[in-house]
Amino acid sequence: MPDSAPPTIGAAIRTGAAQLAASSDTARLDAEVLMAHALGITRSDLLLRHLDGQPPASFRSLLERRLAHEPVAYILGSQSFYGLELDVSPAVLIPRGDSEVLIDAARARFGECPPGRILDLGTGSGALLIAAQSLWSEAEAIGIDRSHAACQIAQGNAARHGKASVVQRDWSAPDWADDLGQFDLILANPPYVEREAELAPSVRGFEPAEALFAGADGLDAYRVLMPQLSRLLMPGGAAMIEIGATQADAVKALAHAADLSAKLHRDLAGRPRALEMAVLPNISLGKA
Ligand code: GLN
Repeated sequence: MPDSAPPTIGAAIRTGAAQLAASSDTARLDAEVLMAHALGITRSDLLLRHLDGQPPASFRSLLERRLAHEPVAYILGSQSFYGLELDVSPAVLIPRGDSEVLIDAARARFGECPPGRILDLGTGSGALLIAAQSLWSEAEAIGIDRSHAACQIAQGNAARHGKASVVQRDWSAPDWADDLGQFDLILANPPYVEREAELAPSVRGFEPAEALFAGADGLDAYRVLMPQLSRLLMPGGAAMIEIGATQADAVKALAHAADLSAKLHRDLAGRPRALEMAVLPNISLGKA
């Protein structure tokens, strides 16, 4: 090891964290997680037992990747969501803690009466699909994604965690859902970012554009999905759809235009994060 190498793991973490501070809000955590990954041990094991050891040579290259804004989840190849460890690659959006709101909202809605059939639209890594299946193991859970690479990641995750299935479909294609039937619970974290939005380099430079962007106003995917929900939902079913923090009114309007009710759910930071939708009862107005 060259003389300039940091003498201990603890010192290498400190130096790495200081370098990362300019580009990451979680510099110290990132450095610890990357070091644990380089050593092939857990972070708590690292902190409890290994700080005085020799830093492995591979830490430097992991740190360089993070300094170039690559998300930690892609460097590690995994991310936890709703307590489940999921494989991720640049073919799929990294599951966010904020999206767990959709699962909590579904849990509140269905309570002791489990949904029999679950559909996840644009499943990506399979995060929402697999989290829902983990709650309702008897349910038939199907995820769709138009990306073949995403379907492969989701299939691997689904197989490891349960029995959800994943099929490659494009929700903008005609007849894409004809053989899928109806669902008690529909989940979706569609692309909803405005094309020109300012995004962190770790997001814009690394996460898949087709999972992020939805036209100039970020609403293109909702425009395609909303009119399809009522025929995909069973009577009494509900859809939990993720939205951007400023999109609640616009997406509610699209839902109402498609004869759906829309109830807002907020994330842990109090920002609008999901809309719960159900088919409005068919009331005929103006009849004697
Ligand atoms: N929540 C993601 C972000 O802010 C966007 C996810 C999406 O478009 N579905 O980067």
